[in-house]
Amino acid sequence: MDEILSDLVALGKGLSITFKNMLRPPVTVEYPEKKRVLPARTRGRHVLHRYEDGRERCVGCLLCQGTCPASAIYIEARENDPARPVSAGERYADIFRVDLLRCIYCGHCELACPTNAITLESNTALAGYTRQSMVMEKEELLEPMGSATLGSTQAWDAPAPSQMTRFDGSETSAAAVGKGNLVRRLPER
Ligand code: SF4
Ligand code: SF4
Repeated sequence: MDEILSDLVALGKGLSITFKNMLRPPVTVEYPEKKRVLPARTRGRHVLHRYEDGRERCVGCLLCQGTCPASAIYIEARENDPARPVSAGERYADIFRVDLLRCIYCGHCELACPTNAITLESNTALAGYTRQSMVMEKEELLEPMGSATLGSTQAWDAPAPSQMTRFDGSETSAAAVGKGNLVRRLPER
């Protein structure tokens, strides 16, 4: 009799959890029609940022490329034409390529960046039919002209390097950073 009673109690306990969860709203969403709001620090696809005047924040210093543990970033930097500078520094990134399949979304690149030029944002819907379609060029990564955001760094607990005003990357030079030969070149698209 005691055994039957204890089984009934256990059954009641189990079913109470079932009934409790039946009354809760469902946790699934009908993706992709409905999208869940992701946390502000979600590390999805990279975005390259601009200043208000349209110049690119990236000064081609290669720190992100050098720190990337997956060799997912490839950059070729060029000297700016002082009459028509692309960036706010001596140099700019002529080629800025990110292989989304190599990337492990660790965020080291955005942590290393002295100018807040690169951040990982909430676009996590990353898929393609070919490997090459997952290699993003600068033009695909840059935020559109007229947009000047700081991205997810605004949600960081600690200030981003660019907000600490110790080094803004504006005086980086090819000699200082090894002329871009830190990793082997990724395949051309
Ligand atoms: S998130 Fe990490 S793995 Fe991806 S590009 Fe940046 S540093 Fe490399
Ligand atoms: S660390 Fe920042 S400024 Fe330097 S190359 Fe990378 S994105 Fe550009």
